[in-house]
Amino acid sequence: MKRKDLLVYINGEFYPESNAKISVLDRAFVYGDGVFEGIIVVEGNIFELDQHIDRLYRSAKMIRVNIPLTKQQMKEAIIEVVRRNELKNGYIRPLISRGEGPLGLERMAELKGPTIVIIPQIREMMYRDRGLTAKIVTIRRIPPECLDPRIKSCNYLSNVLAKIEQKDAGVEVGIMLDTHGYVAEACAENIFIVRDGMIYTPYPIHVLDGITRRAVMRLATEAGIRVIEANMTKYDLYTADEVFITGTLAGVAAITKVDNWTIGTGSIGPITKKLMQATKEAMKKEGVKVFD
Ligand code: PMP
Repeated sequence: MKRKDLLVYINGEFYPESNAKISVLDRAFVYGDGVFEGIIVVEGNIFELDQHIDRLYRSAKMIRVNIPLTKQQMKEAIIEVVRRNELKNGYIRPLISRGEGPLGLERMAELKGPTIVIIPQIREMMYRDRGLTAKIVTIRRIPPECLDPRIKSCNYLSNVLAKIEQKDAGVEVGIMLDTHGYVAEACAENIFIVRDGMIYTPYPIHVLDGITRRAVMRLATEAGIRVIEANMTKYDLYTADEVFITGTLAGVAAITKVDNWTIGTGSIGPITKKLMQATKEAMKKEGVKVFD
């Protein structure tokens, strides 16, 4: 089946995906020198768009890139990408790089200014009605002393290697520990455990401060479930009543096996189930509705 040639935004212009190109001298290509976002559109609703834009601008500030658009202009550009592509259900990837210029880390003054790209994709949420298998991988999450994990930067190599290690092991989720040995997050999702009716998740220090993570914490609190940020070890994962991950594409997904340990009863637990449903509903409502 031929894929639809969606329109991609590059520096204010729209190009069909097959002809949407940036320079080989772009810093995001040459050095991974950029930041990005991943945003979901569910039934024409851009979920938590403002939160994604805020995180994008925080990431850019931390790598000292001034995005030459106001947040409002960025918001309008993203909405325009969704509208022009009639993207009722899909995924949007805004990406800001430091820009194009001569090779050489030091030659930043010669760059032409940031490259702004907004890529749409037709993708459905990965909702699943069964638990996933997981493994704690050997790759550790890059610590804040090296590159703050809250910066959603174009340097995803350690996540990619963690993903490869997980796939080689024949499981569906790779869980990274931080450099102290505490549970951090999955390759592209945050992680939670449930014990005695309460939910625990790592502090947003050695992990990306996920938009879905925040939404789930809020939805749980609204449902009267206590949410606690805490350091956790392997022990907490293996002995949890329930384990689940959260992310823009994963939504809320249950994990029922970690390494050789079966989690809880081995099937999706009641709190995970409740939050899967609540998040699914929220994704259709909370954010910006593009179509009438
Ligand atoms: N951690 C990492 C490393 C990620 O790449 C993602 C995906 N953006 C997440 C967590 C989940 O964050 P969000 O809920 O904002 O998609």
